[in-house]
Amino acid sequence: MIVGIPREIKNNENRVAITPAGVTSFVDSGHTVLVEKEAGIGSGFTNEDYSNAGAIIVELAKDVWAQSDMVMKVKEPLRSEYDYFREGLILFTYLHLAADPKLTQALIDKGVTAIAYETVELNNTLPLLTPMSEVAGRMAAQIGSQFLQKSHGGQGILLSGVPGVSRGKVTIIGGGIVGTNAAKIAVGLGADVTVLDLNANRLRQLDDIFGNQIKTLISNPYNIADAVKDADLLIGAVLIPGAKAPKLVTEDMVKTMKPGSVIVDVAIDQGGIVETIDHVTTHDNPTFEKHNIIHYSVANMPGAVPRTSTIALTNVTVPYALQISNKGVCKAISENEVLKRGVNIAKGYVTHKAIAKDLGYNY
Ligand code: NAD
Repeated sequence: MIVGIPREIKNNENRVAITPAGVTSFVDSGHTVLVEKEAGIGSGFTNEDYSNAGAIIVELAKDVWAQSDMVMKVKEPLRSEYDYFREGLILFTYLHLAADPKLTQALIDKGVTAIAYETVELNNTLPLLTPMSEVAGRMAAQIGSQFLQKSHGGQGILLSGVPGVSRGKVTIIGGGIVGTNAAKIAVGLGADVTVLDLNANRLRQLDDIFGNQIKTLISNPYNIADAVKDADLLIGAVLIPGAKAPKLVTEDMVKTMKPGSVIVDVAIDQGGIVETIDHVTTHDNPTFEKHNIIHYSVANMPGAVPRTSTIALTNVTVPYALQISNKGVCKAISENEVLKRGVNIAKGYVTHKAIAKDLGYNY
């Protein structure tokens, strides 16, 4: 199979859908990999890195799309890329079609087989989303500690404290992938960490992982109010699958925080859990202040660390892509339920129940 890797064209997107190591895996299995010139540069991979791994460097995006049986990307195709769609093309990328009816229709009209990273589902987990949650969770603690510095407008505290000075307090609401990874880094920084979750079993698992390095609290408005008031750094990490994030932290709770404290709401991509956050921020202008609290609400946090994110993402996408290229898409899907759940569009139909329902297609 010929596998094509175009350069990402979304603003500030520096990730790429394959690393040189990934190229080697395809080439060793007898496939051809076309990489658009400079596609990896934002993630620190040069054209030479790719050609040394066995890829063919192609000058123009249109040729990558036209010559490939399967195109792998990171972000959903933008309008200018719809012209490259054609019957029989396999597209493997993040798609988020429920939020994008125009892209959905374009894929249907052109007969593309579209497989979305975010709907590949294994035992009720989303293995191709997990690495980005790991990155964002770890970043949340790191970024929060940075904005607590006076030079960044924060209280001017060091999360670890020093001998004779108390440690900073980190409250994490939501103890899933983001929350656990935020806790790992916050504990590593020496902070006094509290994690709240609605799920008592999840808190038991966290207790097993961290022992007495963290406190766990069941999530309810009373405990949230207490933990928010105490927090120097508050991290939002809640997810209710398929739903908007609930506003668990009210404006009144935010007002009880010490001036110069920091909120990093990682759940902002689902609307956020903090009432005082009314907009998404960007890496160029990541924070705003309300009630003397620094609010950080960047929806694509992994974009700030494209090299780590690219490697983490491709570690998990390439094995699935290899199944598709080795067996052909029909056999790969029929033999693997996990991958099958990733298929959003095939033969001109929406094949994913939730997307069909959201966008009003027959299923
Ligand atoms: P997850 O499913 O692993 O964890 C979510 C946790 O929230 C679960 O443990 C669940 O029990 C808990 N929860 C649900 N309702 C709760 C409540 N009322 N109180 C406390 N906890 C509650 O999800 P995840 O992978 O950790 O993702 C968390 C959020 O981070 C999602 O919205 C995800 O899209 C987002 N995210 C954002 C970025 C970014 O760049 N901003 C990057 C990756 C992920």
